[in-house]
Amino acid sequence: MSEKYDVAVIGAGPAGYVAAIRCAQLGLKTACVDRWCDANGKPALGGTCLNVGCIPSKALLDSSEKYHQILTSYGKHGIVVDQVSMDVSKMMKRKTQIVRSLTQGIATLLKANGVDSFHAHGRYAGAGTVELVNWESGEKADEIKATNVILASGSVPIELPNIPFQGDLIVDSAGALEFEEVPERLGVVGAGVIGLELGSVWNRLGSEVTVLEALPDFLPGADTDIAKDAARLFKRQKLGIQLGARVDSAEVGDDIKVCYTVGGEQKEMSVDRLIVCIGRKPCTDNLLTEDSGVKLDERGFIHVNEDCRTDAANVYAIGDCVRGPMLAHKGSEEGVAVAERIATGHGHINYNTIPWAIYTAPEIAWVGATEQEAIEAGHACNSGKFPFAATGRAKAMEDTAGFVKVVADARTDEILGVHIIGPHASELIAEAVVAMEYRASSEDLARTIHAHPTLSEAVHEAALAVGGRAIHSAK
Ligand code: FAD
Ligand code: NAD
Repeated sequence: MSEKYDVAVIGAGPAGYVAAIRCAQLGLKTACVDRWCDANGKPALGGTCLNVGCIPSKALLDSSEKYHQILTSYGKHGIVVDQVSMDVSKMMKRKTQIVRSLTQGIATLLKANGVDSFHAHGRYAGAGTVELVNWESGEKADEIKATNVILASGSVPIELPNIPFQGDLIVDSAGALEFEEVPERLGVVGAGVIGLELGSVWNRLGSEVTVLEALPDFLPGADTDIAKDAARLFKRQKLGIQLGARVDSAEVGDDIKVCYTVGGEQKEMSVDRLIVCIGRKPCTDNLLTEDSGVKLDERGFIHVNEDCRTDAANVYAIGDCVRGPMLAHKGSEEGVAVAERIATGHGHINYNTIPWAIYTAPEIAWVGATEQEAIEAGHACNSGKFPFAATGRAKAMEDTAGFVKVVADARTDEILGVHIIGPHASELIAEAVVAMEYRASSEDLARTIHAHPTLSEAVHEAALAVGGRAIHSAK
């Protein structure tokens, strides 16, 4: 290919395709190389997020939650529903259609923005050269020349050494989005974000779910108050979670025998399907030639500085393949920042205000420091908590579990973190992100008018509670 690009992006997940679009918006001649194929062998843009991650998992979470609500809470509204059943294959078809429409939408967006899209495996060979390799044969088919290169190759699931994935029996998260029927007994290795979300899907549809988690603490990244409440609520939903259980091996016979260790004692569990979701690792297979100049760090991530610059000049890396949380919006914002750095010399991302959301029921979301982290960092803290059960809207919705917690610096009153467990937590957290982005105090939030009746009143009241003046709470 003779034409030279200003920017070549490898990977069209939420990091890569967003970077490519922003580059094009800024007037840079941009190419985007991605190798993903859908189940029919057709190119499908959007990476893990659109094809086997954020979107299909949320489609199934929504379908299963609606089904579960009909069984458990519609009666309280006076709605009588007889003979409820779940058509799993229809649920899966809906999910596939959503994925297809969104992945096709990315292709349209790239085209509309003038980004040249290449379906191939991309390998960075140094000196601004991206080789286009046939993924099946490994043969180099062509190459692109670019002044700047952005690596956005994403991540892949980690496999347990003694438990290789096996057909539809022992699966990774992608396999767990494809079950054709509800497994009677479902084992899940890892009580991280994927384990809780996908465990919830199948639990709601009727599986007996047991999640085995190696760590002794539940959701160690979350604020302790939130993690405690989440553990209590999941137990009530009969989502079995065994902490301190390290899974060692699994054997497929008539069913799947899972061997694990708890407190030094060997245990065994039989299940019909097993999901292994013990984290993800950067995807860098055959991404770089030996003389590319790009280095990996000790954990296998592409080594970058705070500006996402790699060790090679004019080569950047973003998203799951570099340090930091493996979240779609983190990768996208890095993509925007890098595009702006290339075009203008400036680009900004605030790593302190990246929100987390876990789409269980109730949802869990947070931004900034937990109270424990803030104290460890040397802050004296004031915190305010407010339960959804004390808001009119949550009561009207019959969805009252959970609370909001605002953590503020005791001296300056700056908000250090906001933690939510409850209905629509993933949406409510946006207000906290904006507040923290503008370095608001809890007083700022407390003096901001919130519509009544809304769930956001719980955020308002938690901010008021930091100063001991929540209105709708008897001390
Ligand atoms: P990816 O999305 O992995 O995309 C990388 C792309 O690069 C892929 O298309 C890959 O095929 C391609 N590629 C790799 N190497 C090459 C190469 N050499 N040449 C050409 N192409 C290449 N995050 C959230 O924020 N919210 C959620 O709700 C959420 N839910 C999730 C649910 C599940 C089940 C999973 C597995 C993940 C979820 N995530 C979620 C995480 C999210 O999917 C990732 O953080 C996000 O996709 C990372 O984006 P990325 O662009 O860095 O990488
Ligand atoms: P994770 O890191 O969230 O959780 C993995 C868990 O597995 C850990 O708690 C770990 O202690 C446990 N584990 C490891 N080895 C084990 C063993 N042998 N036996 C028992 N437990 C073991 O990883 P994940 O759930 O696979 O998710 C990967 C990434 O995908 C997450 O880090 C997250 O960034 C992203 N993701 C995000 C969302 C979201 O934002 N809602 C949803 C899904 C995935």
